[in-house]
Amino acid sequence: MSIEENRRSFIKKMGGSAIALPFLSNKRPAQPKETYDGKKLGIALVGLGYYAVEKILPGIDESPYWELKGIVTGTPSKIPALKEKYNLKDENILNYDNYANLANCPDIDVVYVCLPNGMHAEYSIKAANAGKHVITEKPMANSVKECEDMMEACKKNNVKLAVGYRCHFEPFNLELMRYGRENTFGKINYIQSMFGWTAGNPKMWRLNKELGGGGPLMDVGIYSINAARYTKGMEPRSVVAHFGPVTDKTRFSEVEESVSWHMEFPDDTVFTGFTSYNTNVEKFQAYGDKGWVEMGPAFSYGPIVGNTSKGKMDMEVVYHQTYQMNGMGALFLSPDPMPDHCSGVEGLKDMKIITAIYESARTGGKKIML
Ligand code: NAD
Repeated sequence: MSIEENRRSFIKKMGGSAIALPFLSNKRPAQPKETYDGKKLGIALVGLGYYAVEKILPGIDESPYWELKGIVTGTPSKIPALKEKYNLKDENILNYDNYANLANCPDIDVVYVCLPNGMHAEYSIKAANAGKHVITEKPMANSVKECEDMMEACKKNNVKLAVGYRCHFEPFNLELMRYGRENTFGKINYIQSMFGWTAGNPKMWRLNKELGGGGPLMDVGIYSINAARYTKGMEPRSVVAHFGPVTDKTRFSEVEESVSWHMEFPDDTVFTGFTSYNTNVEKFQAYGDKGWVEMGPAFSYGPIVGNTSKGKMDMEVVYHQTYQMNGMGALFLSPDPMPDHCSGVEGLKDMKIITAIYESARTGGKKIML
């Protein structure tokens, strides 16, 4: 199935159901079945933390394109249950010391790097050098340089690179992209988005600069930035940013507690954003000269809720990671290059903006980006 066919069948399926299912966080909504009966892609999960095991693995299980063939973990106690359930071969069970042995694992086509942000570049580059295609979680890496190195390594080894931008496969966010593309609410002039949560455990890697790369901006602020970009379909020309106050010097000794920014797009659209590890908020609002759209929750696992000046957004509530793995399965099987919207190209664009936000917040003043 081609990329376009995949997107089209996806959108068609979305249109098929008019009622959003009630959704509890521990209960997954019924999924329309993706049909594919060709050879499955063998995937290895690198890091067996929360996101890999609780979220991505069920998506792999539900998608007809994938089969878990390997795991990479530094915690031996995590091995037996997965080994038994997925009938994993010993040679496909690796750790961080013998990771280069990936090159000798023909069952593994793609690795999915679900490690702390500061480890994405190293483990993506090593996988590419072992001849494996790569999916890495967001944010793509800790810096622009790391993103460029990852792209270079994948190019040199002739493997594909994707970034886990699941919202690019999710019905509400796809609809938001369509609104922007088709000017459903006229020209969008103002966007506001806030995404924050309370990061309470002072020992978590997300509060460590080396592993997190930064604070909430790297973790969840990236969703607001990415959504503003895919709603407008353009890159910002400038940004001004400010760090918020530090209310807890223990937790926020290395990374920001919060940051807000004011961004302008080349068509004079203004985007104000806020992200925090000390405030629970998740909203996206866009105002055009003929109406508005608001989503909240907008990016987390759901149920996403959307309203517009024309009425409620009537999209299907889905299990995001199944849709992501279905979409990415078709893209990895396709002979075409990975499309920019979920590739290293997209990850690098977000990283350039994140870098400009940090620079502005640190040094003051407007950063010109275009
Ligand atoms: P987590 O802490 O639950 O898992 C991290 C894994 O990395 C663990 O298995 C841990 O053992 C392993 N690890 C290896 N070396 C480590 C080290 N030096 N320090 C800490 N852990 C180490 O984290 P997570 O929530 O699963 O996040 C993993 C990645 O997934 C992050 O990049 C995060 O941004 C991303 N993520 C994405 C989404 C999404 O919706 N796309 C959601 C959550 C997390």
